[in-house]
Amino acid sequence: MNIEKYDLVVIGSGPAGQKAAVQAAKAGQKVALIEKTRELGGSCVHRGTIPSKTLRENALRVRNMRMSAALANYELAEDIELVTLIDRLGEVLDAHDHYMRKQMERSNIELIHARARFISNTQLELTRVRGEKTLFEATNFVIATGSLPRQPDNIAIDHEHLLDSDSILSMLYLPKSLVVLGGGVIASEYASIFQALGVKVTMIDKYPSPLGFLDDDLTKTFTEGFNNLGGTWMGNTVVTSADWNGFDAVITRCDDGREVRSEKLLCAAGRIANVNDLHIENAGLSLNERGLITVNENLQTTVSNIYAAGDVIGPPSLASASMEQGRRAACNALGMETGKMHNIIPAGIYSIPELSSVGLSETQARQQHGDILVGIAKFDEIARGQISGIQDGMLKIVCAPDGCKLLGVMIVGEGATELIHIGQMALLSEQDVDIFVDTIFNFPTLAEAYRVAALDIINQRKYKFI
Ligand SMILES: Cc1cc2nc3c(=O)[nH]c(=O)nc-3n(C[C@H](O)[C@H](O)[C@H](O)COP(=O)(O)OP(=O)(O)OC[C@H]3O[C@@H](n4cnc5c(N)ncnc54)[C@H](O)[C@@H]3O)c2cc1C
Repeated sequence: MNIEKYDLVVIGSGPAGQKAAVQAAKAGQKVALIEKTRELGGSCVHRGTIPSKTLRENALRVRNMRMSAALANYELAEDIELVTLIDRLGEVLDAHDHYMRKQMERSNIELIHARARFISNTQLELTRVRGEKTLFEATNFVIATGSLPRQPDNIAIDHEHLLDSDSILSMLYLPKSLVVLGGGVIASEYASIFQALGVKVTMIDKYPSPLGFLDDDLTKTFTEGFNNLGGTWMGNTVVTSADWNGFDAVITRCDDGREVRSEKLLCAAGRIANVNDLHIENAGLSLNERGLITVNENLQTTVSNIYAAGDVIGPPSLASASMEQGRRAACNALGMETGKMHNIIPAGIYSIPELSSVGLSETQARQQHGDILVGIAKFDEIARGQISGIQDGMLKIVCAPDGCKLLGVMIVGEGATELIHIGQMALLSEQDVDIFVDTIFNFPTLAEAYRVAALDIINQRKYKFI
């Protein structure tokens, strides 16, 4: 069998793999990118970020119509097909695919649609669509094969009635009712999106509140918003089993004896590394106890010529972070300088209402710095919030005990995932909270909330240091 030789082979064409391949090609290396599916872009494009956010846009439209007095009783047609609610997705995917293929071509990256598996730490066997096999040899590899939904043993996922975060958008029709298992980001996003579309959603999780890594006041605003949409949150509840009754409902049984009936169920119980076909053991690698590939600060695995990036190495498991990890993994493999990776990465949660945070939360800041100051601005007290009728928005600035140093920003409400970048830039450039008061913002905007929250801190500072 012929052996093809490369400087770097990247496995997986999601955000991490794409950026790794482009970075190495720019550095003049001979690069191959291996992708097992027909499409490019990974789960970010086909099953995760882009499809869920496309559905969310329509959910917001439906919610906003219901909020208008004249259309308060607006309902979607019964038996509406899900595909009509993600109608723009095809165009978005085609544009993305076209752009990516052009970029690969321009960069002279060899793009191969094949399933990769390691033979050793320097050789891969590729199986193409028609079954033909090729051997690839490379000096370095980047594994960027992403993640798969975790499937708990007691949940009988059949991808028809009980679905996971990869199969949920394959439903033909919008169901009348949905149980969502989990309280993390994906669970909270889908639960609130489907509830806004008029589905009766029940979220069940073992923790007292969803999104437990955020401060209580933010999660409370999310839960209240979800309840106001008509959803039900069942916290402190352990699910013992869930299955299709073979006739008309999914039955979810809880440890306190309660049973919940629903038309469909979404299990969003976390994600694990997708290395099923890869035979990483042949390269001398294994998964850690969390089902992920372990890497050092250079994104290098325990085998020195193999790097890994993106969801396959675990949190933050975001498309944005995966891209930067991919780029850095390639640079490190090629011995190129990358500079220090900033840990000031924003988290965006596209639930309804939307949430975002950067830097330390209030809880983390209290643990690390003690007597911190917190400034709050409610969107309904700001001109733009009043004009837009936003009732459930809030921006919170967390400041060091000196009343000056910015430690973190948290936002709940529409626009949160965009607004957060103002706080991120201030944190990265190590600004004091005063920057938000000394700067003129457009009026009326939600960005003005930064100024109001900073003034709240400056007022407290006056009393603290009298
Ligand atoms: C429902 C949902 C919503 C999300 N929303 C957001 C969001 O709003 N914002 C955000 O930043 N992130 C979001 N994410 C997370 C984001 O999608 C991931 O962090 C990102 O896709 C990870 O990129 P990756 O390159 O590591 O892997 P992936 O995008 O999963 O790509 C991996 C690729 O590797 C290929 N592959 C696997 N095995 C092999 C093999 N043996 N041979 C060849 N190819 C192989 C796969 O086919 C796939 O194309 C969301 C995820 C989900 C599930």
